[in-house]
Amino acid sequence: MSANTEFRDIWIVGAGLAGALLGSLLSKRGFKVSISEKRSSVELEQLAAGRSINLALAERGRYALECAGLIDESAEASQQQSVEAAVLAQAIAMPGRHVHMPDGSENFQPYSASGKQAIWSVHRARLNRTLLHAARNAGAAIHFGERLQRVDLENNYAELERDGGLQRVNFGLVIGADGAGSMVREAIAASRPETSPAHVDFLDHAYKEIHIPPVPTGGFALSPHALHIWPRERFMLIALPNPDHSFTATLFLQNQGELSFATLEAGSTEQQREQIAQFFARYFADVVALVPDLIEQMLHHPKGLLGTLHCQTWDYSHRAVLVGDAAHAIVPFHGQGMNCAFEDCIELAERLRPEQSEAERAEALNSYSNSRWPQARAIAEMALENYVEMRDHVADDDFRLRKALEQALARALPGHFVPRYELVSFTRFDYARAQERGLWQSALLHEFCAGKTALNQIDLAAAISRVRAELPDLAIQLS
Ligand code: FAD
Repeated sequence: MSANTEFRDIWIVGAGLAGALLGSLLSKRGFKVSISEKRSSVELEQLAAGRSINLALAERGRYALECAGLIDESAEASQQQSVEAAVLAQAIAMPGRHVHMPDGSENFQPYSASGKQAIWSVHRARLNRTLLHAARNAGAAIHFGERLQRVDLENNYAELERDGGLQRVNFGLVIGADGAGSMVREAIAASRPETSPAHVDFLDHAYKEIHIPPVPTGGFALSPHALHIWPRERFMLIALPNPDHSFTATLFLQNQGELSFATLEAGSTEQQREQIAQFFARYFADVVALVPDLIEQMLHHPKGLLGTLHCQTWDYSHRAVLVGDAAHAIVPFHGQGMNCAFEDCIELAERLRPEQSEAERAEALNSYSNSRWPQARAIAEMALENYVEMRDHVADDDFRLRKALEQALARALPGHFVPRYELVSFTRFDYARAQERGLWQSALLHEFCAGKTALNQIDLAAAISRVRAELPDLAIQLS
């Protein structure tokens, strides 16, 4: 090793949500962990306006935070706080969808049959900060302003850009937590040319975020305990609450076509202002009054692309592995990208032990990849389906009847007939099996609701008998 080459034992690239959580979990398992993050600590903690400010945290994510334990194990007992408690203290429960219909009417659709289950709106930067704090306290060394430039897995070295110069690093294991554009993923692919290459399927829709401020008296502009949706068939607006009483809304809209970002962005700035004003007045009139600088935000906030990363090769020997978006970036419509990334971290950390031989480590990485890949593929597919459900079906009477029957069956057969949304969001049940059960359940709902307009027209007893006879009981406990 040359004089200016550093050695890093477990080396995580990326201190985003997955990298920060994994840094904590692996340090607590006795590893010497280093994390490189290309951004400065300030950039990471202060998100740019218009970039996924808040996220929905579900059961899988909560469980991972619980596994991260205390923020600082060395603190006095009276000062100790768990990572999960710190995050939830700043989070807002969303037990259902508040739907704003095109005709101006509104309805609330609970996420669970019991009405008690909720997903939680959390602030991305604050969550990242808490996770980094816990990782540092657990012993991880976090290096900000270090950008991975190149990894050579055959020869076991990498080059990092730091302070304007290049630093050479050798490593025991490099973990790519470097997001959708992962360089570690590229290095794994280069070292395993026999495997199928990764590719991204971009959606023909993009997104833009809009800040809805608190009302002048300081309160929330919309009811806070819900995920708000304005479904408009081919596009939609959603809004999640923030602890400072603002909301972060996101417009999902086609890139091209008659009603699209292209038509809003056509012509001079004055024409764009007019087009944006007309679009919102026509489709989201109630939002216009809530956002005084709506047009400025639409003009200046960045537009984000949406896509699904298909990647089957997540590991290389005992030297490299991927977690989170680096392995499986997905569209955000099930609110599961981070939750799935956290589940990766738990599964990977559980398989790694400091005393493992190289062969044992290679086996651990490979079994992790083989176990997670089908899960990632299932949630990627369900997330795409959920887009159609959110922007279109939630406003549809047939859909609402199927939901009503679904919830009636869930109440009649608790832990046995569990709606797919609940399996994904309120349990840690295997994504792939949730997808499979969801298909069977959906077919049953369609069959019993066909030609019906109200729940009292449906033979509920017959539906219950079918479930009892044909669907294995999960015996899942939902509080
Ligand atoms: P990232 O968060 O992308 O972090 C990667 C880190 O690596 C970054 O800090 C980056 O700076 C660093 N990095 C990259 N390249 C290098 C390099 N070469 N060298 C050093 N560092 C590098 N998920 C949910 O669960 N619920 C939601 O409600 C939800 N909503 C979303 C809404 C939107 C609009 C979007 C776009 C996503 C949403 N997601 C949601 C998904 C979620 O944001 C991601 O799944 C999650 O951020 C993945 O975390 P990660 O750590 O794998 O990647």
